[in-house]
Amino acid sequence: MSESEHTGDSPPNAPPHHAPNGKFRNPWGLAESRFAGLLRWRWNRVRHPLPRDDGARSLRCVPPAVRVPRAAANEIAVTWVGHSTLLVQLGSVNILTDPIWSDRASPWRLVGPRRLIPAALPLNGLPPIDIVLLSHNHYDHLDAWSVRALARAQPTAQWVVPLRLGGFVRSLGVRYITELDWWDERTVGDATVACTPARHFSARTPLDRDRTLWCGFAVASAAGRLFYAGDTGLHPEFARIGERFGPFVVSAIPIGAYEPRWFMQPVHVDPDDAITAFRALHAHHGSLARAVMVGVHWGTFRLTDEPILAPPQRARAAWTRAMLPDENLWVLAHGETRGIRMEQRGTASSFLLPRRPASSHVDGMEHGLTVYRHDSPGGRIVIITVDERNPNDVVARLQVERRADPERQGVGEPPLIAEARGTSREAVLTELQALATDDAELARRLARWTAMQRRPRSDAP
Ligand SMILES: [Zn+2]
Repeated sequence: MSESEHTGDSPPNAPPHHAPNGKFRNPWGLAESRFAGLLRWRWNRVRHPLPRDDGARSLRCVPPAVRVPRAAANEIAVTWVGHSTLLVQLGSVNILTDPIWSDRASPWRLVGPRRLIPAALPLNGLPPIDIVLLSHNHYDHLDAWSVRALARAQPTAQWVVPLRLGGFVRSLGVRYITELDWWDERTVGDATVACTPARHFSARTPLDRDRTLWCGFAVASAAGRLFYAGDTGLHPEFARIGERFGPFVVSAIPIGAYEPRWFMQPVHVDPDDAITAFRALHAHHGSLARAVMVGVHWGTFRLTDEPILAPPQRARAAWTRAMLPDENLWVLAHGETRGIRMEQRGTASSFLLPRRPASSHVDGMEHGLTVYRHDSPGGRIVIITVDERNPNDVVARLQVERRADPERQGVGEPPLIAEARGTSREAVLTELQALATDDAELARRLARWTAMQRRPRSDAP
């Protein structure tokens, strides 16, 4: 690497996780996993094979109790499908995290880590999914077969992915994609999704390391707030994530794939690190009495050296040592659903703290596009898109798709009802509202949404 690569083409205000060479990096100046370490680890495994592990026989699978089609307005229900795949029913919003249903977490069908236990909930048995969160492109989180199958089964879901991952996901048939950078947030139907920093890396081949971003997510709905860590090692931002997007009712954090520590520690938390992260997430809000941690990323594929059943045992021991309430650590059986009812409804479906300005990365494919999609009681899907990529020509579009005709879904663009152009978001939304007054229900939805969009932003960069 020449010196100029470190100082050269970097845009003047590029955030520190954007490397000047166009790739991404962990910005904290902490030790990284190296390729030489990977070779050493694999070679050690060849020389000293892991002892036989019958732990998979003790993995339990129970029938899910998914809320169909949705949870009650004041309930949060979590179902573990396996690995990092959770169905989180955040009140009326159904969310899926890093979906994998395949037999192997691998680019190949016959080689690679094999599922220890079948997925507890069939992909075609899911309730309507509103939001799919994809944290990064590793094979155990972004499974091409599962993405294609979900794109067909759930064509109207909104996928939220980190920067530069949208193109690949689109190539697998997904239609609605929002790319976000760390700390960015976006309204999706009745929820707000924020992309949060993680300490990890990306790669699907030996040649594409760190070309797409990795992240965690925070989601706020009227029922409460969810944190999903993705894959991560410990880093210094958990407290800030909690302060900005919490307090979280449920935090899903990995507890598995952590041995050997000399190699995994920078990129995967172990159960102790997971609980350290959990405490940091809640540091700003004081009480941990009602905060739940769900342990994920274990018991499904054998990716690393620790025994299959060690993650839940170590997590439970660390939880007890931290003197946290027993019932608030959820280590679920495959398929198990657990729910919490909130005593009172949350106050808002969006984060109330000041927003950061929208990302300024022109190659993010959804850059400047705000997309709102909502199921309407009339069996329609209302889609409002605001395109602000050209500040002199802001375009707002209103489209409506019939839900009743599943064959039509995913075929071509939904019919355009109205389009407005102008030089400000304010102007085009006013015009769009004027154009849609024929249809009382549409007008009402549009008014509600535009009011939300106009709320003053106290952007402090
Ligand atoms: Zn990963």
